[in-house]
Amino acid sequence: MFENKKVFILGMARSGYWAAKQLIKRNNTIVLNDKNENQDKDRVKELEDLGVKVVLGDHPDDILDESFDYIIKNPGVHFDHKYLLYAEKHNIKVINEIEMAYHFLPNGVKLIAITGTNGKTTTTTLTYEILKSAFKEKVHLAGNIGFPLCEVIDNIKENDYLVMEIGVPQLHDFYDFNPYISVLTNIFEAHLDMFKTREYYNENKLRIFMNHTKENIAIINRGNDDAYRITKDIKSTKKYFSSKEIIDGCYLKNDAIYYYDEKIIDTKDIKLQGVHNYENIMCAIMVAKELNISNDSIINVLKEFSGVEHRIEYVKTINGVDYYNDSKATNVTSTQIALSAFKRPTILLLGGLDRGHSFEGLKEYMKNVKLVCSFGQTNERINEFCKSINIPCIVSTTLKEALENAYDNAVNKDVVLLSPACASWDQYKCFEDRGSEFKEIVKNMVK
Ligand code: ADP
Repeated sequence: MFENKKVFILGMARSGYWAAKQLIKRNNTIVLNDKNENQDKDRVKELEDLGVKVVLGDHPDDILDESFDYIIKNPGVHFDHKYLLYAEKHNIKVINEIEMAYHFLPNGVKLIAITGTNGKTTTTTLTYEILKSAFKEKVHLAGNIGFPLCEVIDNIKENDYLVMEIGVPQLHDFYDFNPYISVLTNIFEAHLDMFKTREYYNENKLRIFMNHTKENIAIINRGNDDAYRITKDIKSTKKYFSSKEIIDGCYLKNDAIYYYDEKIIDTKDIKLQGVHNYENIMCAIMVAKELNISNDSIINVLKEFSGVEHRIEYVKTINGVDYYNDSKATNVTSTQIALSAFKRPTILLLGGLDRGHSFEGLKEYMKNVKLVCSFGQTNERINEFCKSINIPCIVSTTLKEALENAYDNAVNKDVVLLSPACASWDQYKCFEDRGSEFKEIVKNMVK
């Protein structure tokens, strides 16, 4: 299918690079184009040496013509890009790197694909860990989680297991992609910049099930109205989980997670915090059960799994105080979720880039917060907000100072939570750097 063809790769990044490497092995003619000329020089040279025509820094009109068979589009490229409009007019098929690599999978590979507005990375990582504990090196991880399928594919053997995180922009360019198990964690409003309307966004989410028959499994959040509603007519065998009610499937009862009539684990034995994380866990349990993985394997992983980095990630307990890193919470909604996860007295580290956004949305969620330590560009505005709701606030400039203030004020059984409700770009390159600094300081704190 992808042999001796002419392929235009739009967007380099990692996925474009790896797509080119796979295609060149199959004797295709390739043009790779990216507007950003700051690409890894060694990789560009390597591709050029392999015969790829690499065009960086612009989207010239004369590098795409009707002779191309495919465009491999990076998920970040907007649908109305001039090359894509040209492709539509001239019947050039637009797909993405995953759709292409899907055709290279060996026989019998069991593909598990996880999508949804929130919880994708946590669910994908947890599912991968559980499968790995059962099936060892037969399990692979790929997709939106930092590993292009084209990079991983050469390690995958017949009958292996492949766990993939899939974002909606990727779903848009799927045609034959057909997971054995597709998971829909939830649907909230998101990506409306790219998809314009909610209907179009939902329609694209459904593409994770579009090639399903009764032989395929769909795991769906019964407690999420949109997810339940839009999947009513899919052809898959549907299985449900819910954190809201007891259902036929996976659910919460008496502070434990159940799978049908069987109790799997008490929530007190799980490191991940919060109902939203119990939902992610339920997804992973349901996948594991479909693959006949033993309860022992599931439980052992759940007891150890402390979350994905920077997402309400447990860091350390010092003097009875639990420290959590939720640096990924770059907006108020994410901080609401984090605050809902803790029932104990909490010292909250808030602050970062000032987008002029309001913190009012946190008000209802602050009942366990005994102190706020603010930092960054928004430090004073956060102080004003805290005054308005009668919660003490200590204002600092840096995260380090804020954390020292938290440490000085924390007592046994408190939680210290970095869930900043702001982007990190006032003081950091990215939220990962902010979270890593937090963890580094915490790890060096003395008892
Ligand atoms: P994604 O990969 O979809 O962005 P993550 O697993 O990285 O999701 O989690 C990112 C943030 O989304 C978390 O810090 C938390 O605030 C929120 N979140 C995670 N899981 C869920 C869920 N099941 N429902 C609602 N919000 C969630």
